Amino acid sequence: MSRVYNFSAGPAVLPEEVLREAAEEMMDYRGTGMSVMEMSHRSAAYQQIIDEAEQDLRDLMNIPDNYKVLFLQGGASQQFAAIPMNMMKNGVADYIVTGQWAKKAYQEAQKYGKAVKIASSEDDTFSYIPDCSDLEISDDADYVYICENNTIYGTKFKTLPNTKGKPLVADVSSCFLSEPVDVTKYGVIWGGVQKNIGPAGVVIMIIREDLIPEETPVENTPTMLKWKTQADNGSMYNTPPCYGIYICGKVFKWIKKMGGLEAMKAHNEKKAAILYDFLDESKLFKGTVRKEDRSLMNVPFITGNAEMDAKFVKEAKAAGFENLKGHRSVGGMRASIYNAMPIEGVEALVAFMKKFEEENA
Ligand SMILES: *Cc1c(COP(=O)(O)O)cnc(C)c1O
Repeated sequence: MSRVYNFSAGPAVLPEEVLREAAEEMMDYRGTGMSVMEMSHRSAAYQQIIDEAEQDLRDLMNIPDNYKVLFLQGGASQQFAAIPMNMMKNGVADYIVTGQWAKKAYQEAQKYGKAVKIASSEDDTFSYIPDCSDLEISDDADYVYICENNTIYGTKFKTLPNTKGKPLVADVSSCFLSEPVDVTKYGVIWGGVQKNIGPAGVVIMIIREDLIPEETPVENTPTMLKWKTQADNGSMYNTPPCYGIYICGKVFKWIKKMGGLEAMKAHNEKKAAILYDFLDESKLFKGTVRKEDRSLMNVPFITGNAEMDAKFVKEAKAAGFENLKGHRSVGGMRASIYNAMPIEGVEALVAFMKKFEEENA
């Protein structure tokens, strides 16, 4: 068996320990004589899996009791519609557009009400986070929306926007569990899991209870997209993405064992510094993002020459560094260094970049 260093933006690297444990339990999950994939979601064994997953997540993020945790399917993109459908009581919401995922959410919300773009960094290819300390928040805004870590462009909100009392809704798909957060600062904090937590398809919604409406304000909201349906049924109105949730649960336990979110943050800062410090001194490579807004998770960089970029990606792949090509909308390179990327992976990448620079500069 040989494993590469996988810098994919998502689906992405998972802890080897988790994969090994899942493999061991594949044929016979703890004496049940079946795989978790084959198990009824109404069984006691499965109920324990999902209950433990929720409790471990609550412990890790210190989620207060007045927040519901939902494990849903449909990926992050489906919630771009569900959020306005459940939250647009006044029919108005403010969006801060800092990248493609925020833009998609903003565009989707326009179908269900008035979505107002109150700030954007599109003027400079989303390479920074705008100042959000004193924005013009709509008087009747039902919420203010951000994408907290911009997976494609490699920026992160280091300070949350001043929402002037409106609930903050944050897509944290690509920074989920990468560092401690204060859940009470959010109305809804949520994300798809395939970046930092588990297999694609599962989306985790952490929603303050008073923001789950009895009746959705948008007419004809599908039953499945009503948060109330899901909350009342413990995420099991229908068959949940059982196996995906089981893997998420294992990753939560792995993070706990690693020391929780404080330890994760220290580990991630250390890894990111190795790469950013090199980019700052390199004569060939450079980062594309304003320094103070740099993400700990997604690190885009370029040589400034598309042919050189392609050569680098090709040679890196041959040397066992996978998925370093930048997103198709920006080009260049991007190294995603999520929780499960070991420090050795980043060290090896930087050593390879140094060698490439000597050969090509
Ligand atoms: C990947 C990603 C999405 C989209 O996730 P899907 O599960 O493919 O819909 C949304 N938001 C962010 C921040 C992402 O990184």
